[in-house]
Amino acid sequence: MIDSPVSFPASALTEKFGCRVFGDDAMRARLPKDIYKSLHRTVEDGRELDITVASVVANAMKDWAIEQGATHFTHWFQPMTGITAEKHDGFISPAEGGRAIMEFSGKELIRGEPDASSFPSGGLRATFEARGYTAWDPSSYAFIKDDSLCIPTAFCSFSGEVLDKKTPLLRSMEAISAPAARICRLFGYSDVTRVVPTAGAEQEYFLVDAELFKKRPDLALCGVTLFGARPPKGQETQDHYYGAIRPRVIEYMKELNRELWALGIYAKTEHNEVAPAQHELAPVFGTVNVATDHNQLTMEMMKKVAERHGMACLLAEKPFAGVNGSGKHNNWSLMTNTGINLFDPGPEPESNKLFLIFVAAVLKAVDEYSDLLRISAATAGNDRRLGGGEAPPCVISVFLGEQITSILECLASGRPYIGGAPVSVNQGAAVLPGLSRDTSDRNRTSPFAFTGNKFEFRMPGSSSSIAGPNTILNTIVADALCSFADRLEASSDAEAEFTAIIRDVMNEHGRIIFNGNNYGREWEDEARRRGLPDLRSTPDALPYLIAEKNVALFARHKIYNERELRSRYEILVDNYVKVTSIEALTMADMANQIIIPSAVRFVSETCSAASARKAAGLSGEGDGTLNLARRAVALQDAVCEKTAALERAIQGAKIFSDPLEAARYCRSGLLPAMEALRAAADELELILPAALRGMPTCAELMYSI
Ligand code: ADP
Ligand code: MG
Repeated sequence: MIDSPVSFPASALTEKFGCRVFGDDAMRARLPKDIYKSLHRTVEDGRELDITVASVVANAMKDWAIEQGATHFTHWFQPMTGITAEKHDGFISPAEGGRAIMEFSGKELIRGEPDASSFPSGGLRATFEARGYTAWDPSSYAFIKDDSLCIPTAFCSFSGEVLDKKTPLLRSMEAISAPAARICRLFGYSDVTRVVPTAGAEQEYFLVDAELFKKRPDLALCGVTLFGARPPKGQETQDHYYGAIRPRVIEYMKELNRELWALGIYAKTEHNEVAPAQHELAPVFGTVNVATDHNQLTMEMMKKVAERHGMACLLAEKPFAGVNGSGKHNNWSLMTNTGINLFDPGPEPESNKLFLIFVAAVLKAVDEYSDLLRISAATAGNDRRLGGGEAPPCVISVFLGEQITSILECLASGRPYIGGAPVSVNQGAAVLPGLSRDTSDRNRTSPFAFTGNKFEFRMPGSSSSIAGPNTILNTIVADALCSFADRLEASSDAEAEFTAIIRDVMNEHGRIIFNGNNYGREWEDEARRRGLPDLRSTPDALPYLIAEKNVALFARHKIYNERELRSRYEILVDNYVKVTSIEALTMADMANQIIIPSAVRFVSETCSAASARKAAGLSGEGDGTLNLARRAVALQDAVCEKTAALERAIQGAKIFSDPLEAARYCRSGLLPAMEALRAAADELELILPAALRGMPTCAELMYSI
């Protein structure tokens, strides 16, 4: 049974790695040489795939999959819901004499026809055009999951417009490859023909006990706690981060790692995160489309393995108020087909022109299109996390570190750069090995930080697909690179043009560099002085997606045509409204069905106790029972009143026909009503006897493993 846990000893790891993937080894072993080569060329050079090749591959894939125990295949795709979709078809086909054979054709491998009508399309698909297509992405390996051969695919409508997150990502990879390779060649790297973006997504998550999870409708329906008083102990004592991992969690991580390794995912780093019950997993980076597929699979496996261990894995951005939420740090870089990491500064960054020009492209891109980057991290869930002093603020800036900043400033102003000699760290004990100090410290508060040989975009929320942020990153940097390549190619003096580009970027976009504390109040003021946008919420940010300059950008690089872009915009706005409305309804239901009944019992108990005490003649000045009854009554009234107010606010949402107006109302009308109800209910929870609580508290959830 394939769905049972993968289990193997550490000594078998190298042998078992990727055992559920139809990867390079399996292809080499099972495909005729010319077919293997042809497929390789498609993947390496991004060429179109021949149907005769596909048929041979399909057959080999099927035989391999059946040997692994699979009976079905599915086109595995990433619709705009942000999660993955699959529809399983059996390999089984009728044969003569009522027998069955197992079949899988080349056509079935490269093209699927799922019904597109139940996926978000943002008005792209008329209801009579239900048909959609999925197309095989041969650059991401097929794998086995749940007895099925899963074929990574892109998803589009009947008329060819994108309905998924993968197609734009693949388009953006093509968009950046050409200008990046042009620049490499201009700087003397004549053998560079292709450049691919790489990504490594650090994934944060929470684990809670499954039995307690089930008793919380907010967790079950919305993935977050919408009520819950502050736990007496949160993350104040800082003892959880990197702390020893509890046995139940170790067992979980052990199994999760094996599941991921079997799927060819290089799960590498794991540790406890800052908040109680919070953890992190980081993989080794890979090509961005594969990294995206792998992150989707990682999230799915995290949940699945948690269930097997009697736990629930929370991927939401802010499952608990009062402690850190979860993000997904998107580490991003560019790699040439010759193996150069273009963001590796090397030992002498001041003379590494290739590196400097690529850094300059990032500065220009991030400054010109910071609105798009902000949008790529804009969701209802992530709004709770950004700007709270635990995650980057909503203002985007780039951390470069003193050294790189100084090199660029010197180049721009014509001053000579004088680098410092390597510094060593003296720990004051002779037995410890000497450590050389890195040229710049880490900055943990920046939304977009240069971290040695890559950029780390820290805004995305933990539950989001990384397809969106990377599509934006690839596109905006591609745009900057195109303009640099044009300038360099048109110039007769490449040296002078290089300096002019750096100077222009520092003059026009230097404002985006910020090496200080992004969590400080002073930065808010400074950012405003610099004119950097501060898009506080999802409804504030989303309209910029269809700003003229952004429509033009996506059209220029053939990522989205205007119709496709508008459909994305509509889906994102609609999603914000839906998520917020579901949360509001869940709160109202929980208040009516759990919290108010608890309050009624509490009031009834305290009032009877108070009257009994009075009847016994024991009441007087400072009667604690009477005081408690009074508080209980006041808090119950407050909860009832705030619940009624929330219900009115929910009704109020119905009048909006314009989706953006509805989203703005959710932000300014629903969210405050939800917050007010929560404040009253949380205050009540603090004095409610444990026996009267209708659900587990946040503290119980956080310390349940
Ligand atoms: P941190 O700096 O956040 O403590 P690490 O330095 O361990 O963490 O790296 C974090 C992530 O960055 C890992 O997932 C790693 O694979 C990824 N990473 C490293 N190099 C690159 C690269 N060239 N391109 C993309 N991601 C990378
Ligand atoms: Mg990180």
